[in-house]
Amino acid sequence: MYRDLSYLDEVKFCPHCNEKLSCCEAPQIHVGDGLGWGSDVLFICLSDNCPLFLRGWDHIGDQYGHHASYRYMELPGSKESNVMMVGNKDAFKGSIVDPEAIKNQNARYLKEKKAVEELKSCLEEKNLSPVLTLLLDEASMNSSRVLALDYLVKLGDLTCIDALRNHTFRDEILKEKVDTALKRLLTDNFKKECPYCAEIIKLQAQKCLHCKENV
Ligand SMILES: [Zn+2]
Ligand SMILES: [Zn+2]
Repeated sequence: MYRDLSYLDEVKFCPHCNEKLSCCEAPQIHVGDGLGWGSDVLFICLSDNCPLFLRGWDHIGDQYGHHASYRYMELPGSKESNVMMVGNKDAFKGSIVDPEAIKNQNARYLKEKKAVEELKSCLEEKNLSPVLTLLLDEASMNSSRVLALDYLVKLGDLTCIDALRNHTFRDEILKEKVDTALKRLLTDNFKKECPYCAEIIKLQAQKCLHCKENV
C-alpha cells in the first residue's frame, strides 16, 4: 500500500531524449541491508530511441562484456540522475504504474479505515453506513466485515436488506453469516422474507401481501 501519493502527480522528463519518464514499480532488490531505493516507484525513461539507452549496449559490452544497456532513472521527489541497468528493451515496461488504479486503491483503503473507525460509535449514532460500507466492499478485511455483521444485527435497521441481498459475497462462509444475520435481524423485528417474492412480510403472516402466495 502506497501511503504518500504525491509522486503520482509528478511529471518528469528524460534529459537525454526529452521523453516523459514512466512511473514504474521499483524492483525488489536489496542494496546492503535491504535499503533498496527507499521508494516504491521509480521514474524511468522507457523510450527505445533514447540516446542513453541506444549507446548503452556498446558501452557496457566494451566495458564489462555484458549484453545490457542503461535506462535513465529519477526517484520520486528528486532531480538526481541515476541509471538502471537493463538486459533487454522490455525491462520495466510491464511494471508501469497506473496512477488512477493506485488512487482508487488508496481511496478504497481510506474508506475502509474510516468505516472501521466509525463502527465504534455506529450504535449510539444509529449509523448503518459504516456497516454497509464494510460488508459491501469485497476488498475489506474479513475480520472487519464479521465485526460489521455483529453491529448489523444490533442496529436492527431493515433498510440494509436490499443492498445485502443484491450483493454477491465471494466468501462462502461470510455469505452464510450474512444470511444468518439477516434472518436474525428480521425475526428480531417480527418480520420474515417471503420465500416466493422476497418481499419483507410480518412474521406471523400466512399469505404474502405482495405476491398473494401462502407462506
Ligand atoms: Zn530518455
Ligand atoms: Zn411474496
